[in-house]
Amino acid sequence: MKITVLGCGTSAGVPVIGCRCAVCRSADPKNKRLRCSILLEARGQKILFDTGPDLREQCLRAEIDQLDAVVFTHAHADHLHGLDDLRSINNIVGRRLPAYAHQDVLARIKERFPYAFAGGQDGIGGFWRPDLEPHSFDGSRPFTIGAVEFLPLRHGHGRSHVWGFRIGNFAYSTDADDLDPPYLEALRGIDVWIVDALRDDPHPSHSHLVKTLGWIDHVRPRLAYLTHMNHEVDYRAWKEKLPPGIEPAYDGLVIEVEE
Ligand SMILES: [Zn+2]
Ligand SMILES: [Zn+2]
Ligand SMILES: [Zn+2]
Repeated sequence: MKITVLGCGTSAGVPVIGCRCAVCRSADPKNKRLRCSILLEARGQKILFDTGPDLREQCLRAEIDQLDAVVFTHAHADHLHGLDDLRSINNIVGRRLPAYAHQDVLARIKERFPYAFAGGQDGIGGFWRPDLEPHSFDGSRPFTIGAVEFLPLRHGHGRSHVWGFRIGNFAYSTDADDLDPPYLEALRGIDVWIVDALRDDPHPSHSHLVKTLGWIDHVRPRLAYLTHMNHEVDYRAWKEKLPPGIEPAYDGLVIEVEE
C-alpha cells in the first residue's frame, strides 16, 4: 500500500495570505503546505481523500491522471471546495466517479454541490461538470472499495464530527481534537498513522502536539506522521524535537505501508 501526502496544511494553507512570519517567509519547501489530502494506492485502486481548494495543484504535482474513488472525511471547505476539479478526472476515466462519505457528510456535500450528483455528460463523451456516484456509509461497519476495506471511525472536531479511517495497517485521522478510547484501541499496533497536530498550543477544534503525542503513545504505530499543521509549525524545528518514529508530514511525502 502506498500513501502520498498531497497536502498537510491547515485550512488557511501555509504560507498564509498576507503573513510575514518566519515560517510563511521560509525558503524550506517543507514549510509550504497545501490543504489536507492524501492519495491511497492499494490493491489496484487509486483513492483520493477529500477535495480541498488545492486539488488541481495537487493532481498536477502528484501526476494523478485517474482515480477509482474519492472518500470524504467531512464537509469543511478546506476538504471539499475543490470538488469541481474532479471534472477533469471524469473526463479521463469517462464515467461517474464513486464518492464515499458518511450519510450526514454526503447530505452536506449534496447541499453545496447539487450539480455534481445530477449528471454531467454532454452526450458526446465529455463532462461539462463533475459527476459523482454517491455511496454513503452509516459508520456501523466497514465498507469496501474494490478489494480495499475501510473501517470508518468517528472522532470529535470542535462542535462537529469527522470520519477517520483504518485501512489495513494504515489509518488517517485528520481534523481531530477528540479520539475516544475505543477509537485508539481500534488503531492499536498499526504500521503507519497520519494524525492531526495543528501546532504547539491547544486549539478548540484541532489537536495540539502534546495531545497528539499522547494518542500516538497509546496506538504505538511503527511510524506516525503529523498533519493539518499551521504556520506556527517550522518543519525542521518539529522534526528535531520529535522522538524517533514520529515526524511532521510534508507535501509530496510518499509512505510505503506494510499490508
Ligand atoms: Zn481541515
Ligand atoms: Zn505566517
Ligand atoms: Zn475541519
